[in-house]
Amino acid sequence: MRLLICFVLVTMLASSPSNVAAQSRRPVDLLVVGGSIVTMDGTRRVIEDGGIAVAGGRIVAIGPRAEIEAGYRSRQRITAAGKVITPGLINGHTHVPMVLFRGLADDLDLQEWLTKYIFPAEAKNVSEEFVRIGARLGLAEMIRGGTTTYCDMYYFEDAIADETAKAGVRGVLGETIIDFPVADNKTNAEGMAYVEKFVTRWKGHELIVPAIAPHAPYTVSEAHLKAVRAFSDRTGAPIVTHISETKRELDDSVKDKGASPVAYLDRIGFLNGKVIAAHVVWPQGTDIAILKRRGVGVVHNPQSNMKLASGVAPVPKMLTEGVLVGLGTDGAASNNDLNMWEEMDTVAKLHKVFSGDPKVISAQQAFELATIGGAQALHLEKEIGSLEVGKRADLLIIDRDTLNQIPLYNIYSDLVYATKAADVQSVIINGRIVMRDRRLLTLNETTVKSEARTLRDKIIKSLATPASSP
Ligand SMILES: [Zn+2]
Repeated sequence: MRLLICFVLVTMLASSPSNVAAQSRRPVDLLVVGGSIVTMDGTRRVIEDGGIAVAGGRIVAIGPRAEIEAGYRSRQRITAAGKVITPGLINGHTHVPMVLFRGLADDLDLQEWLTKYIFPAEAKNVSEEFVRIGARLGLAEMIRGGTTTYCDMYYFEDAIADETAKAGVRGVLGETIIDFPVADNKTNAEGMAYVEKFVTRWKGHELIVPAIAPHAPYTVSEAHLKAVRAFSDRTGAPIVTHISETKRELDDSVKDKGASPVAYLDRIGFLNGKVIAAHVVWPQGTDIAILKRRGVGVVHNPQSNMKLASGVAPVPKMLTEGVLVGLGTDGAASNNDLNMWEEMDTVAKLHKVFSGDPKVISAQQAFELATIGGAQALHLEKEIGSLEVGKRADLLIIDRDTLNQIPLYNIYSDLVYATKAADVQSVIINGRIVMRDRRLLTLNETTVKSEARTLRDKIIKSLATPASSP
């Protein structure tokens, strides 16, 4: 009798309508349900009470919550009702370990700041351990602020890639090539050998895009720049560099090479759709047309350019002419943080005051620069930058219940002018939750902070002693 009752019960359960529905729903790795989804797709669709299904690190479905819940099931769920879901932010230009030099020297122009303080401090302190500790601090800061992809240029970039992958963050990471001895490589041959191994090791990784990073046209010779381009052609590695950051760089280039930095680089056959150029504050003549024609990605760093008084890049003109433009913080030593919310707010306001036109960059355009625009500038727009089926699941869940966001009328205005980094509640990169309800899941925040503080004391001591010869 008991057996019969059990049999009847099991049969009833198996055929109940809700269970049949559950069985037919496709299992996925993660469901994010509820909330307003700011997709940044081609039509800039915003989905109220939306849902996202994630499997294998990618978005497999996005739409109204009811539709997603009817089609998919997952043991891992995040309820985002009342919150905003956006693509992860893209910091298009950093030197991540330089967080350890944050506040070391401020209120100087680029040349004095670099040659008197930063280069000597780097010569005495940069080691593999230094970049690992700095990278962990920078990565923790970036995750907390909702940055899911960053583009970097530094030394020991292989160690930075290792820390980035462990933290679960996406990176286009460039090993520096520069014509003087630096911490990891003493000659150009050593640098090129390092980058060869580095690119071979990381190519095809789901988070890391290994790159080659010639520092600038004024610190790398023409022959070495041509070798970089040949390396990129052979391996497919992107080229991360600085171009036309200051008026002095422009004047020197015109004097020494008879052309602006952009025109010179084009003349030697360096520019193409693999190049990611930070700054471009001083384009001349046909430079913007060249950047557009060659498909170069430009990364605008308004706060760094303001702090070093480098000038104001003509970003509205670049956008009008169709140049691929993203947004970055630059290294934290010239910013002094890795906060993309501040950068968005600044880019909109700087260009308004500089042009005298409040319409010149709208809140929506500023948000584009930090998401889909950044993806285009890094040549990764097929993978990231918007929330669409097939793209990597890099997304943020943002609290909208903080005092600084109430009341809310326009989503882009709220995101660009009112949201703060601390309002980012959860961060998902490649389908993995790396911060949940403000708790970092891939980095130990206490250790990250104490290691960085210990290094600060070493850096101060090192600067009190004369430089050792390279
Ligand atoms: Zn830089």
